[in-house]
Amino acid sequence: MVYVDTRDKSIQVSFRDATLWGMNPQTGGLFIPGEIPPLNRNFFLKECTPSFRNVALEISRLFMGDEIPEEGIQQIVAEAFPFKIVVAPLSEHTYTLELFHGPTCAFKDFGARFMAQVMSYFNKDEDQPLHILTATSGDTGSAVGSAFYGVPGIEVIILYPKGRISQIQEQQIGTFTGNVHPVAVEGSFDDCQFLVKQALTDVELRKELRLSSANSINIARLLPQAFYYVYAARVIQDHSFNDMDISDPEIIFSVPCGNFGNLTAGLIAKELFPSISGFIAATNSNRTMPIWFTSGNYIPCPSTETLASTMDVGVPCNYERINTMYFHENLKKNVAAFWTDDDGILNAIRSCFKTTGYVLDPHSAVAWAAWKECCSCFPSGKADFFPGQDYEIFPGLCPYLPQWAEMVREKKAVGVVLATSHPSKFNDTIAAAINRTVTLPSKLQRLLRLPITSVTINNDYSELKSILMSYL
Ligand SMILES: *Cc1c(COP(=O)(O)O)cnc(C)c1O
Repeated sequence: MVYVDTRDKSIQVSFRDATLWGMNPQTGGLFIPGEIPPLNRNFFLKECTPSFRNVALEISRLFMGDEIPEEGIQQIVAEAFPFKIVVAPLSEHTYTLELFHGPTCAFKDFGARFMAQVMSYFNKDEDQPLHILTATSGDTGSAVGSAFYGVPGIEVIILYPKGRISQIQEQQIGTFTGNVHPVAVEGSFDDCQFLVKQALTDVELRKELRLSSANSINIARLLPQAFYYVYAARVIQDHSFNDMDISDPEIIFSVPCGNFGNLTAGLIAKELFPSISGFIAATNSNRTMPIWFTSGNYIPCPSTETLASTMDVGVPCNYERINTMYFHENLKKNVAAFWTDDDGILNAIRSCFKTTGYVLDPHSAVAWAAWKECCSCFPSGKADFFPGQDYEIFPGLCPYLPQWAEMVREKKAVGVVLATSHPSKFNDTIAAAINRTVTLPSKLQRLLRLPITSVTINNDYSELKSILMSYL
């Protein structure tokens, strides 16, 4: 399989280079798969639902099987996913896909751990260390740090916006030692992301250091996120034979979006497994993408702070991938768009808890609200269900109908709400919404007692560069 540069499709590289480079330093482009082959039909005709790891193996073979032998792929998958993944019914026609059972209790463990294993596979014959740079708005940093912690030959530098992540997130990221180096930046997440981009495109620096990136820019972090969409769709199809009133449901994933890596992976999963019918791209007040989906105008803007803080992204880096892979009109057929503000987040946590007893974290709450909105708006069957069309100003669904809206109206669809973080990581918000808190898993409790080791820098590339040069 070749991987293609989003800015110049004549540039085609191997999976190894796409992974180790992160992005193309010459063009600034990101890598996307040259093609998305459909999964082997036999795989889906089997009697019983495959395990998550089987799905992971099958898809990995398609995307990297020509470069990594079978034993290598098996080892990568086994090391990357030693934890459970839960698909559970929440209420009628609504499921949750719990992606927070990994070591850092957030879905980013899937991408980060797989990428760490792939990089360590490709790095095993090198004698110079590989330096991995990543910008985080909260959960990426801990997932990446934990995934690479102790991996020989790899040093990780994590940039996070000082004071703009939750206390537990800072305890998760700021306490790393050894080969993982936390850096607090006086600035926003977008500033951190821009500093990383500057370093990765700094030709002079790259002559001295082997550099790579590890946010959702990296294709090896994106691909494994396709695995759980396919797995969940299979599980739900099997459920529907047994205990649902609809025999062959349309499966709609509601995705809480920030940098749009998760949605991009979903779109790849849909090509692999066409039984996935569509998506809802759900954001907080940072609504650059819902506006682009609706109007076709992409207007990047500074991020605003919200209760779903890891989704506070004003310039989502995967816009570039989505825009290269899909025509805008096709996208609107498959993906509805929704955004909500902090009141909407609190209301969703409250209302889901009241009606189902399930506690959502603030990010997953955005996705739950989006699916509920589809269930109540689409039955009107009209694109003008939203009075005034002022979707840029008032939260809610964006005023256009995806192809699958009809199926929601006829109650032939199930919504799968991606639960991306354990709610206990956001207990302040949970308490504000429902007047109670959720117990922190023991793996997180341990972290609260460790000292912060991060260094603080200004939003100034020369300061980052001198830290990097000190590793020489
Ligand atoms: C990162 C993150 C998201 C957003 O995912 P993207 O791939 O950046 O769109 C949503 N929820 C949580 C908890 C996250 O950490």
